[in-house]
Amino acid sequence: MIEYENLQASNSLFFDEYLNSFKKALQSGWFILGKGVEKFETDFSNFLGAKYCIGVNSGLDALTLSLKALNLPNNSEIIVPSNTYIATILSILQCGFKPVLVEPNIHTYNIDPTKIEEVVTSKTKAIMVVHLYGKSCEMDPIISITNKNNLEIIEDCAQSHGAKYKNKLTGTFGIGAFSFYPTKNLGALGDGGAIVTNNEQIVKSVKRLRNYGSDIKYYNEVIGFNSRLDEIQARFLSVKLKHLNEITNHKRKLAALYNGNLKSDFIKPVIENDYFDVYHIYNIRHPKRDELREYLLKKEIKTEIHYPVPPHKQKAMQGIFGSLDFPISTEIHNTTLSLPLSFCHTKNDISKVVEVLNSF
Ligand SMILES: *Cc1c(COP(=O)(O)O)cnc(C)c1O
Repeated sequence: MIEYENLQASNSLFFDEYLNSFKKALQSGWFILGKGVEKFETDFSNFLGAKYCIGVNSGLDALTLSLKALNLPNNSEIIVPSNTYIATILSILQCGFKPVLVEPNIHTYNIDPTKIEEVVTSKTKAIMVVHLYGKSCEMDPIISITNKNNLEIIEDCAQSHGAKYKNKLTGTFGIGAFSFYPTKNLGALGDGGAIVTNNEQIVKSVKRLRNYGSDIKYYNEVIGFNSRLDEIQARFLSVKLKHLNEITNHKRKLAALYNGNLKSDFIKPVIENDYFDVYHIYNIRHPKRDELREYLLKKEIKTEIHYPVPPHKQKAMQGIFGSLDFPISTEIHNTTLSLPLSFCHTKNDISKVVEVLNSF
């Protein structure tokens, strides 16, 4: 059986280092916002070449607290791609703002910059770009639009650790919101997230918000949350971060095997000059996706669908987007299939998947 992901195998190379850092945490006797979190925040901001990093509890919280920290007016509209993972939209709703969906480009699966200005109103205050599957959004036109319309940029980097656009790392164009959920390219051994920024005001605000709205213990300035990056996870993340380039290179090599060898019946991810893709997910598209998935499973190959239901068709979102239609997003959700491509897979695994796929 070729698994879609095996977190035991994907982490096994780092077990000794994890055990070591766990021992250090135990010996320190300090378990909330200690040296481990501080060190990871420094390590990760250095990795990105950003001034500040603030560790929080999850990717969803990183998005929510970024948005809260901007202090936008109550009736703000926030632009977000229609094919994103639900968390991006949840963060907007949790802040009481209105999510405004924009269709993706059918080739890159990322927000289509040519469709953004159509939905900008006087209430639009920010855009949440999502670097989906590990490919950066097309940032130049997006930045022109945000400059022209005075909009903030929040980047959902949950799938794009180390991905670049024109040699610039994702998470450094606006406020970067990262997830360290175990399956992500930079995955912890539990939940985790971080916000990355060069803006001191945002840092101050997020540090307050993650800790009950408090700067000084037992004195509360604003209505806050408990959303702190766990001390032990932070230490594991510093270990994992040292290996992130190795993980990325491995995934890129495997992706190149798919790209070079899959027959043309399958729509493959596009490769463009200005983009350094990290393949959090390697997806293909096919009109008979469900049949294909069954076929692969019979041949002992497990796959996933990211995602089976578009946000605007989720039960939880009833009434939020009215009767608006998002045909490109719907088309992607109906035809996309994510293939095995993880740090635990070998070139042999991928060759086997290719062989089976090409026989479909
Ligand atoms: C995983 C993910 C999130 C949420 O991250 P959590 O750490 O699970 O809260 C948000 N956005 C995208 C695009 C994701 O893939």
